[in-house]
Amino acid sequence: MEKTLDSIQYSLRPLNQTTVLVVDDEEFNRTLLKLTLEEHFQVVEACGGKEALEVCLHTPPDLILMDVMMESMSGYEACRLLKQHPDTHHIPVIFVTAISSPEEESKCWESGGMDIIAKPVHTPTLIHKARAHLTLKLQGDALREMAYLDGLTSVYNRRYFDDYFSKQLNQAKRSKSPTALMLMDVDWFKKFNDHYGHQAGDDCLRVVAQTLKKTLMRPLDIVARYGGEEFACVLPDTSEEGAIFLAENILKNIRELCITHELSQFGHVTLSIGVAISLSDEMNVDELLALADQKLYQAKEQGRNCFTIATGPQKKEESPLYERPSG
Ligand code: GH3
Ligand code: MG
Ligand code: MG
Repeated sequence: MEKTLDSIQYSLRPLNQTTVLVVDDEEFNRTLLKLTLEEHFQVVEACGGKEALEVCLHTPPDLILMDVMMESMSGYEACRLLKQHPDTHHIPVIFVTAISSPEEESKCWESGGMDIIAKPVHTPTLIHKARAHLTLKLQGDALREMAYLDGLTSVYNRRYFDDYFSKQLNQAKRSKSPTALMLMDVDWFKKFNDHYGHQAGDDCLRVVAQTLKKTLMRPLDIVARYGGEEFACVLPDTSEEGAIFLAENILKNIRELCITHELSQFGHVTLSIGVAISLSDEMNVDELLALADQKLYQAKEQGRNCFTIATGPQKKEESPLYERPSG
């Protein structure tokens, strides 16, 4: 279903599926909050600011309840760091504190807090404030997602791709895991448009995009419209073997759509794919894109309807052209 501003409200995740992170260095306080909150939301815990940052980078919660006075790092400092980080700055933070002065209250706002809940905690206030901030967070997420979808094909747009790709590469550097990038381009698409008309061209792009989306298997894999008839997939934590498997599946699934293209030597719509894999933390966004683009060009040169793949940093190893499927 196409998303409209009005439909956003109805498509939000139920609040009992949202996650609240409770940050407190005293186990007793954490347990108390957890017992109250878990009747309404999913709850995770962190015993300090540093641990909270780690949790947020790996499995970002939807809301953070932050103690102020903690041994290793104050709640103010943790909040400041969360607000500075591009991957965590959108997560609302509520300070849970026995505020004793206006100066301390000001510090909560200055460090980026969204709200304050006074200790001892009054349960209805806790739950209502949590609900209000979670709802705003989900609405913000949904609006951001709308701004990030391509109008024609409903897959992610270039803006989202740029953002996601750079975040995933940063994440891959932290976890030392490989990242695969695929650039895909529809073959002889100008001829397709000229022959069947622009409307048929648009329909074709929609079907191709949705087929790519369905072919991806993991939650963190994304497909985006990179430009006119070009698409890109970001595949976090994906080795060469995994990327080859997926590229073969994509070629197969596009072939099986059987969209007639009389002016192509294959008789139907096909894609060419360039795959680049960064094994180490040595490749940046531009380098990986350049490598995938080079591989896409090579796939075109070698006859289209196929993929070529390389693992970076460049020139370390290069795989030969993979078999073009028959038909
Ligand atoms: P190649 O196999 O080398 O990729 O050849 P090609 O014809 O696909 O490549 P070229 O770059 O010459 O042409 C791309 C065509 O894609 C031209 C343009 O009109 C068409 N195109 C780009 N965006 C859209 C779109 O949104 N809708 C439609 N219908 N066509 C589009
Ligand atoms: Mg092109
Ligand atoms: Mg093309």
